[in-house]
Amino acid sequence: MISVTGLTKRYGSHLAVKDVNFNIEKGEIIGFLGPNGAGKSTIMNILTGYLSTTQGKVEIDGYDITEFPEEAKKRIGYLPEIPPLYTDMKVREYLNFIYDLKKVKFPKKPHIDEIMRLVKIDNVSGRLIKNLSKGYRQRVGFASALVGNPDVLILDEPTVGLDPKQIIEIRNLITKLGKHHTIILSSHILSEIQAVCKRIIIINKGKIIADDTPEALSAKLSSDNSLVARIVCDEAKMIEVLKTVKDVGNVSSLGKVEGGAYDFVIEPLDNADVRAAVYNKIVASGKTLLSFTSNTLSLEQVFLKLTEADESQLDLWLGNAKETTDEIELEENEEGEE
Ligand code: ADP
Ligand code: MG
Repeated sequence: MISVTGLTKRYGSHLAVKDVNFNIEKGEIIGFLGPNGAGKSTIMNILTGYLSTTQGKVEIDGYDITEFPEEAKKRIGYLPEIPPLYTDMKVREYLNFIYDLKKVKFPKKPHIDEIMRLVKIDNVSGRLIKNLSKGYRQRVGFASALVGNPDVLILDEPTVGLDPKQIIEIRNLITKLGKHHTIILSSHILSEIQAVCKRIIIINKGKIIADDTPEALSAKLSSDNSLVARIVCDEAKMIEVLKTVKDVGNVSSLGKVEGGAYDFVIEPLDNADVRAAVYNKIVASGKTLLSFTSNTLSLEQVFLKLTEADESQLDLWLGNAKETTDEIELEENEEGEE
């Protein structure tokens, strides 16, 4: 549905997006996750045809956004970071205006009525936009993106500035819309993305640094099913005991932690799940187990680890040690950074 190849964007001398590639299938809900200034809005503005590329190719449903802008744009509904609402208009009046602007072919009244029902603004159709709450205004923004029933919805930070109740309502709305639309939404907050997306594209400093399911990201970065056990015991003897467990590779001690207890790191062979066997062995040894944890990272930790890491580390973790791109041409210029 969306295909992006070698996308690069420069603002003057500042390189904001660097050689970005991804494909999005029909019906996916994808999250763009990245800190402020990462390049999320820039990429979204390019996908919607609002901004030109410096290099690279964007296709929407097979239509190149530069060669066939009308065909491509027809398939996209866009909710920008700050929706350009005409606040002196009434809700229905505004949506009628957007309808005319987009040159939509469906019968006008039933189409607008259906959208207003869907995003639950039918009860405020006669109100001036400027008198609406922030949550309602955001819904009007959603409604205007839905005019013309585009296949793809691009939502830039759709929950920013909303209160927790409104955030939940907008999340539910996105999930509902995801049944009939391909959706890309951006956020700098992991929990926002995690709540609705099955696939996360993490963007940092204009580059894609990960593209996977939330589960796979956690698993990849937590890597190896290793465990930490805190046991009251004789340090050297316990290392020998733990090493006899099936599928356990290396065992090391982190030293004495409290009373007569030591922390042991237990690394399995071939990522095997050795939790039950290790636990049973400790119990059988008659020693006291004080705590037993896996080294799994939360997705929050994964996000921090990824956005703080340098490139060689990332390639190592994510296993994408590919050939280097044309770094000389794309050399970064930090000027103009926020
Ligand atoms: P995000 O949406 O992830 O916060 P943006 O796409 O807005 O990131 O910005 C990416 C980078 O490009 C930032 O360093 C920002 O300062 C810069 N930038 C964005 N828009 C412009 C512009 N119109 N002119 C110059 N630099 C810009
Ligand atoms: Mg942005």
